[in-house]
Amino acid sequence: MKLIEFQGKELFRRFGIPTPRGQHCTTAIEAAAFISANRGSWVIKSQVLMGGRGKAGGIKFADSAADGEKIARELLGKVLKGVQNPDGEEVKSLLVEEKVAIASEAYVSITIDRARKQPVVIVSSQGGMDVEEVAEKHPDAISKYWLDPAIGCPPFVARRLAFAAALPPGYHRAFPEIVGALYTLFMDYGANLVEINPLVLTKSGDVIASDAKVELDDNGLYKHPDLAAWNAATPADADQAAAVAIGLGMSNYAKLDGTIGVIANGAGLGMGTMDAIRTAGGSAANFLDIGGGAQAELVKKSYALVVSDPKVRAMFINIFGGITRGDQVARGIVEALSGDDLRKVPLVVRLTGTNEKEGREILSAGGMVSVETMDEGAKRAVELARG
Ligand code: GDP
Ligand code: MN
Repeated sequence: MKLIEFQGKELFRRFGIPTPRGQHCTTAIEAAAFISANRGSWVIKSQVLMGGRGKAGGIKFADSAADGEKIARELLGKVLKGVQNPDGEEVKSLLVEEKVAIASEAYVSITIDRARKQPVVIVSSQGGMDVEEVAEKHPDAISKYWLDPAIGCPPFVARRLAFAAALPPGYHRAFPEIVGALYTLFMDYGANLVEINPLVLTKSGDVIASDAKVELDDNGLYKHPDLAAWNAATPADADQAAAVAIGLGMSNYAKLDGTIGVIANGAGLGMGTMDAIRTAGGSAANFLDIGGGAQAELVKKSYALVVSDPKVRAMFINIFGGITRGDQVARGIVEALSGDDLRKVPLVVRLTGTNEKEGREILSAGGMVSVETMDEGAKRAVELARG
């Protein structure tokens, strides 16, 4: 689960990491009302998951309520596109924040280094919108420290990093506490990534998290029922939303570039199916893992979802029955194809395992063909897609 900036900052505040004063708004009126009640200069920040909002035109400044309202109207509903997200993401809400006078922009993040199996703190004095370029062209401007979870993140780690990364002296006093709090948040919430870019040194000498990027490990979310509402409200990308809409998990469907629709049970089998299609000379139009215990209704909805992509010219349903019962899957397929409301494409089904015989009988009674092996199925699907 990725948190939007205002959510990430809410967590930051819980751990004592300083953030600018601000308000999350969903309408231009709200934004204007907040600004007129709090005179000053304000930043209006698009609340989307994609990074690089500054470069994509999603961060604007306002000095008056009228200004703020105008900008808010422009931003709300706008589809932001950036290098990190060429498909774009619609702006559904805004964070109106006190504009701080920036003296310096640093970068700090904590993530898991999978190769070393340790959390790593990454710090750079060259934070801000070009940090990716800094990482590429001046890797020496980035300092890292690998943490031992038994020791945690004591102040000396942050001090050492502040010097190694040559952070301006203005950072030194506040930095250890901020990094320590970031680490506590990282561990308490089971994060994959916590990032502050920029960690701003203001002209008046304060150190403030001007941006917040937090990614939590979904497997640990059950420990934080307080986040359930955010989780439900998180704007998924189009594929994720489509998957959730039919009752699949968020990561169970992804659209790809090919022409052969794929429905498989289990992520591994899904990927294997895509490989088999590739080996047979074709390419998959999607990945779809229908999960264990696939019910007829879900098969039907999955079929509908996959063929809603106009690129799909043939479908390969590959079900390896363990928990999933072949007869139910078969019933779902027959049902899915009996409706008039669906675009139909040539179909290949491979059904093995529990109740496979019953499943095949149902399929052949419905006038459908099934194959015995994955490779055979892939080959047939490729032929059918070439049609
Ligand atoms: P991102 O582009 O999505 O990472 O969004 P950020 O929140 O990091 O903002 C992008 C850039 O906008 C920052 O690097 C700053 O240069 C600028 N910016 C954001 N907030 C402020 C602010 O309060 N004051 C000033 N002067 N610049 C800001
Ligand atoms: Mn940023």
